[in-house]
Amino acid sequence: MIYNKVQEEIANKIEDKPQLSNWKDWKWQLKHSIKTLDQFEYITGICFEKKEREQLQKTFDKFPLSITPYYLSLIHKDNYRNDPVFKQAFGGSEELNTLSSEYADPLSEDKDSPVEGITHRYPDRVLFQVSNVCSMYCRHCTRKRKVGDIDFIPSRKQLTTGIEYIRNTPQVRDVLLSGGDPFMLSDSMIDWLLSEISRIPHVEVIRIGTRMPVVLPYRITDNLISVLKKYHPLWINTHFNHPNEITSSSKEALAKLADGGFPLGNQSVLLADVNDCPRIIKSLVHKLVQNRVRPYYLYQCDLSEGLSHFRTPVGKGIEIMESLVGHTSGFARPVYVIDAPGGGGKIPVMPNYIISWSTNKVVLRNYEGVITTYKEPDSYALKDCDRNCESCNLDLNLQENEDQDVAIGIEKLLSNTNDTISLIPEDNERIQRRNDNA
Ligand SMILES: *Cc1c(COP(=O)(O)O)cnc(C)c1O
Repeated sequence: MIYNKVQEEIANKIEDKPQLSNWKDWKWQLKHSIKTLDQFEYITGICFEKKEREQLQKTFDKFPLSITPYYLSLIHKDNYRNDPVFKQAFGGSEELNTLSSEYADPLSEDKDSPVEGITHRYPDRVLFQVSNVCSMYCRHCTRKRKVGDIDFIPSRKQLTTGIEYIRNTPQVRDVLLSGGDPFMLSDSMIDWLLSEISRIPHVEVIRIGTRMPVVLPYRITDNLISVLKKYHPLWINTHFNHPNEITSSSKEALAKLADGGFPLGNQSVLLADVNDCPRIIKSLVHKLVQNRVRPYYLYQCDLSEGLSHFRTPVGKGIEIMESLVGHTSGFARPVYVIDAPGGGGKIPVMPNYIISWSTNKVVLRNYEGVITTYKEPDSYALKDCDRNCESCNLDLNLQENEDQDVAIGIEKLLSNTNDTISLIPEDNERIQRRNDNA
């Protein structure tokens, strides 16, 4: 069922004679998104007392409110203060608390930005923020500094700078469109943007990060699918955080995307009092794979401003991973990551499975607590890889530009032919002393 009693009630408050087709029209949903406290109170019948109301108003003055009627309809009103959808969409005045350990831009996305809209952090891929708006403003948004700040939908001309950067940077083989929500752009704009990017010879894949299947599933229209289908391989990642978000409407949207041939992934954020429970996450990942969505990342909540009430200790994430590994299908478990403050990128975090090691044996433990050994080969011919494949017996026929010819980071330390034996911070005092004395 696409239109239930709660939705009918909401639609009735919005319009005198609501039509089912309106409810399922994404533009109608956007037009009637709940953006003020008054609207929220009127439509839900939930009323806040004066003092709380003032605090909430201050919060929404700082971080705007916007909830689609559809997403609002998922709130269980009788217990709204504990409701995971309410907490993600409406939140509370805790957002006004900022800690000294928090940042407006914790991932330094703006510092690693060579041109407006692009964050180039990893060697071979870029993040391209193609809009500043979303249909629903997540209270836990990591880009609160920008998103919703100005209702900014860039023009073709403004996007051209980013496209030019990608065109002029041959190492970029993967372009991740994000925002805001890229599906806030019109179908024709998306068509144009994808055609421009996909035409760049070194771009091998494009990905889109969108929360539309969760907060406005009617955005996934047949027309949108037919536009997107022209640009395979196109990967789509969405953002479900709680099993309550998987509804008949969101399932329908996911089915359309999966039938369109797009590999689907999901990025969840670990949020205190929303989904910080191994059983909730397990239920979520099971529902996702039933809908052909592969759980991709589980994020530790970033150090963005005003999110302290959402943050859990890292141990909670590890506990959740412990409850998944071995306990359920390998493809149902995400990788738990901490996005390094300052721009170091995503760092995977796992429970420890290696208990000990000798020269030819590894001692491991499994999910049950069984301790086991794996005997390593008695002899193994070292491969002195100098990244010059001609001297190697393995069969790898790289095209030009297909791989970097230099190792970077820890990979460099592992290499047998590179002279680097340590990576030393730039301001290391001991090394500075050596230089001074030299
Ligand atoms: C997350 C992210 C990517 C993509 O990372 P993957 O691990 O490949 O999914 C790329 N650029 C930036 C800046 C990111 O934050």
